[in-house]
Amino acid sequence: MEVKTQINTLRDELREHNYKYYVNDNPTISDFEFDKKLEQLKSLEAAHPEFYDATSPSVRVGGEVTKNFHTVKHINRMYSLDNSYSIEDLKDWEARIKKIVDGAIQYTCELKYDGASISLHYENGKFVQAVTRGDGNQGDEVTANVRTIRSVPLQLKGDAIPEKFEIRGEIVLPWEGFYKMNEERAAQGLDLYRNPRNTASGSLKLQDSAEVAKRPLDCLLYQLAGNNLPVQSQFDSLMLARKWGFKAPAASKLVSSIEEVFEFINHWDVARKQLPYETDGVVVKVNSLRQQEELGFTAKSPKWAMAYKFAAEQVSTRLEEITYQVGRTGSITPVANLEAVEISGTTVRRASLHNADQIEKLDIRVGDEVYVEKGGEIIPKIVAVDLSKRPQNSVPTIYATHCPECHTELVRKVEDAKHFCPNEMACPPQVKGRIEHFISRKAMDIDGIGAETVGQLVEAGMIHNYADLYDLTVEQVLPLERMAQKSAENMVNGITASKQVPFERLLFGLGIRYVGETVAKKLAKFYKNMDSLMAMPAAPDKENIDLFADVTSPADKKIEELSAIPEIGAAIAQSVVEFITDKRQLEIVDRLGKAGLQLALSEEQLEGQTDKLVGKSFVISGVFEMSRNDLKKLIEDNGGKVSSSLSSKTDYLVRGENMGPSKLEKAEKLGITMLSEQEFIEMV
Ligand code: AMP
Ligand code: ZN
Repeated sequence: MEVKTQINTLRDELREHNYKYYVNDNPTISDFEFDKKLEQLKSLEAAHPEFYDATSPSVRVGGEVTKNFHTVKHINRMYSLDNSYSIEDLKDWEARIKKIVDGAIQYTCELKYDGASISLHYENGKFVQAVTRGDGNQGDEVTANVRTIRSVPLQLKGDAIPEKFEIRGEIVLPWEGFYKMNEERAAQGLDLYRNPRNTASGSLKLQDSAEVAKRPLDCLLYQLAGNNLPVQSQFDSLMLARKWGFKAPAASKLVSSIEEVFEFINHWDVARKQLPYETDGVVVKVNSLRQQEELGFTAKSPKWAMAYKFAAEQVSTRLEEITYQVGRTGSITPVANLEAVEISGTTVRRASLHNADQIEKLDIRVGDEVYVEKGGEIIPKIVAVDLSKRPQNSVPTIYATHCPECHTELVRKVEDAKHFCPNEMACPPQVKGRIEHFISRKAMDIDGIGAETVGQLVEAGMIHNYADLYDLTVEQVLPLERMAQKSAENMVNGITASKQVPFERLLFGLGIRYVGETVAKKLAKFYKNMDSLMAMPAAPDKENIDLFADVTSPADKKIEELSAIPEIGAAIAQSVVEFITDKRQLEIVDRLGKAGLQLALSEEQLEGQTDKLVGKSFVISGVFEMSRNDLKKLIEDNGGKVSSSLSSKTDYLVRGENMGPSKLEKAEKLGITMLSEQEFIEMV
């Protein structure tokens, strides 16, 4: 068989199996067979890049990286929906629309899925673009990420598909996948995701589509938009979408009266608890598109649709005790300990009380009968107090004044809603948190030690900070519970091996507030070693005060110096200065250096790095002998900055072959110095 035919056959087969598995939930081959075919396709495609196709089933694994998401104006505005909370609200709505349209009205009832709105664009039956709702007029283009979602068809089936159209829906994260992601986060000692909705919309904005591909996202579609669509009603468009291969929710119903709408609502208010994803209501839509047109829109929503929000389930129970939890960064969260109670099928014993203001606002007291609600969040919350049941001897809650873990007096900054424990160097959860961050994958990536061992070591008083790790010996850790010879050795070896971890990752591991991975890289590159990062400018000359002397304090000077580095803002600079002026931190860093960790960029990293181009801004355009990436790296290694478009701030334009005439003209107009590739190389 010809290769091209072979590739196409495999693509068709995989497309069909993908559809059966992810859209219809009814696979007909085993996962193993599927993977085998996919591997086959991938190797054929790799050997024959000339047959590349952006809709091939092999693109689902992702790989494309989006640095900045483009803003796209919606062709058809994405409206929000009016909300109703009772049967009366819905009856009022019906009365309003009956005044506008003639004749009988049918309604399509659908579930309201709680995820991230999305608009998918198709041209000639192929998926071409995905845009988030944004503000309704314009959203972000997230095509590469959405392409990895298995239930989004990349190539449609059937005939009479309009040349161009748009379909809207919701990207959701099913509960099961959400819990699984949280288990993994817990195992890595990371903060948990709060709810599936935020996690779904956050996923769409990840830069690396391969990461998105790993998330078990699903896409439910419920609304066609475009010109000359071959349908007359909402319900027909759902059926048609399903024929084309979209996952149009099965839980949709065409009804002929508002009473039947109520039946649908009552049924799903209970039945939704069995659904794999979160729903927060029902959407009722006038079925006939002609009637929809007659009704039109208000400034923010269609008049022909109405959302009905399910009441979040509330139960009342007794508040037995208020305790306080200390987070990794020292922030304090008050927790309500409740008499156990069932809500939406789960037993609840604890609820979040948020912060001191919340407790005061609701006047929540121990012994109160409180109403607890479980909405889209995993942690239930207290929404009200039943004052009629308040015990006579009840006393107002006095918020904790001291840390429950280390008894340090709590502080609260004006701009913060939360109290926090300032004892960052000795408060156990904070100490553990810093060490866990230090050993984590993206920082020092130390094998053989996990969050649990860190906990044991801290509690046993064997370590107080990350520098202590480097003094541990096998003999010392062996007596710990569940620690065998082999695991003790692995741990100590892992710690020793981490001494080779490059400077920028160590810098990230130090856990300086606001210094994430990217900032750590920037600082490492700029300062090249810890000593120059920590070096403080000279103090003003006190002996010789004259009016014109520079009286800026060293700390302020250092903040200025840091803030002058591109993309380092004032908050980061401030926090770095706090760190490097803290004697206790300096001592720890000093010990890390003595233990042999990399407190400077290595020779290899420094090789070819100069300051020759500091302060110079470059634009590169056209085709070059060396790769664009190498060219960019060369500029950056020498201290220069690469930007994507020409402006009066551009110093040099490096021009390659086939550069566009308009760019050339603009560069000439702005008087920018132009360099050929050769001239640039000579320059560095
Ligand atoms: P709101 O954000 O509360 O104004 O509600 C409008 C949003 O509900 C829309 O932007 C959609 O993302 C979402 N939605 C969920 N399910 C549906 C549905 N079946 N029909 C229309 N919108 C829906
Ligand atoms: Zn504390």
